[in-house]
Amino acid sequence: MTARILIVDDMPANTRLLEAKLAAEYYQVRSARDGFEALSDARDWQPDLILLDVMMPGMDGYECCRQLKEDALTLHIPVVMVTALGEPGERLRGLEAGADDFLTKPVDYDTLMTRVRSLVRLKRLLDEWRARGDTARALGLGTDRVLVPSIAGARALVVDDWDQSARAIQDALAGDGVVSATASDGAEAIGLAAEVDFDIVVINLSLAGEDPLKLISILRASDTTHETPLLLVAEAGERDRVLRGFELGANDWLVQPIDANELRARARNQVRRKFYQDRLRSDLGTALEMALTDPLTGLYNQRYLRRHLASLMITGQGRQLTVLMMDVDHFKSVNDRYGHASGDRALRLIADSLRVNTRVFDSVARYGGEEFVVVMPGTGPQEAAAAAERLRLAVQAIEFQAEPGVCTPLTVSVGVASTAAGEESPDSVLQAADAALYQAKRNGRNRVEIAQEAGAI
Ligand code: GH3
Ligand code: MG
Ligand code: MG
Repeated sequence: MTARILIVDDMPANTRLLEAKLAAEYYQVRSARDGFEALSDARDWQPDLILLDVMMPGMDGYECCRQLKEDALTLHIPVVMVTALGEPGERLRGLEAGADDFLTKPVDYDTLMTRVRSLVRLKRLLDEWRARGDTARALGLGTDRVLVPSIAGARALVVDDWDQSARAIQDALAGDGVVSATASDGAEAIGLAAEVDFDIVVINLSLAGEDPLKLISILRASDTTHETPLLLVAEAGERDRVLRGFELGANDWLVQPIDANELRARARNQVRRKFYQDRLRSDLGTALEMALTDPLTGLYNQRYLRRHLASLMITGQGRQLTVLMMDVDHFKSVNDRYGHASGDRALRLIADSLRVNTRVFDSVARYGGEEFVVVMPGTGPQEAAAAAERLRLAVQAIEFQAEPGVCTPLTVSVGVASTAAGEESPDSVLQAADAALYQAKRNGRNRVEIAQEAGAI
């Protein structure tokens, strides 16, 4: 997933290495020399993340952050404050100014990348959340717009066998109204997590007598905690184990001794990510569902999709998005041979496959009879073509028995079109995707074609 990152630092020499590291991960990077430049770049360029140095002449990082968070055009952009080591007071000031996270100089690049990915993901979820709210309102279905949800009332599980350290974590979380339970070993944690839907689990990596990494992998493998945010607490020398924890699916970490403000910021981001994710999934509550979804497959309908595409083009501010248009191959013959009910069953299987093989911020719609559309925000043609190919293979792998014992192959042809110049309308992108789909049909079906007009990255 590409993303725009704005680095703000008055000393260009400081940021050159960081820029290079981020660029090597395919992020688009821009840098600003002072707070004023940062404010105007943030408004005009709409980055997905801002790394903001605290010490700058003129306007310092706190003031800059405060102004970013007061401006409706920039308040949703995550801000990471870059502070000097060993200045816990700076974090409190940063939190008060609205900072979303902190980074200490000198920068540890491995853990930075995990944090950047995690914050970019949070931003994407938030963008999708905003766009869906706009869409629902535009369709006359007023929804309350909770932009930055409070995390008060969220439930945390603290896994720590040392009372004093568990209590420090609980106290810090309580500052944001988070209610927490404690477990002193992995078995107790797994038992509690099976009963309560926790919004975050904080795990101390120095549990005596057991390997907390094992706990991480068990929590990740379980259906109930598969996506629960996991925050690790580690000693400074345990960086390798932290990285191993990330590989196993942990989301972020904190170093001992814990800085309460840092913990609050990290926990807040993770709980909010879960909030958006859960809400986006169950977003289609009762009333909305009737008007916006297709009764056969439960996917969005065309009316919703067109409106949503328009919202994305406005909130996305010219950010690239891609539309996949797909049509089931020779579907008429399924109906003709096995009857309409079998055809309906096949459409449902295809819809399910598209749903499970796309990301939460992608929107999948049944566009017409046996036509489906997937909208992928923040995604360019190459990445989307790879996704299209994955979806094509997933449909091809469906084991559809039109009649008991009769395995009937299902395939789709896919057209891919991306916005490029920012001049497109929902109609023009859909038309371009449709033209590419037509090419895919002409070129033999069960294949993906990219629209000619699609701009190169
Ligand atoms: P191709 O797209 O590969 O060119 O061939 P096709 O046979 O899929 O194309 P065509 O557009 O001729 O046929 C589409 C068929 O899809 C016709 C219609 O019977 C079927 N269809 C459309 N909507 C539904 C539906 O809701 N349920 C069922 N069972 N069939 C549907
Ligand atoms: Mg068709
Ligand atoms: Mg067809």
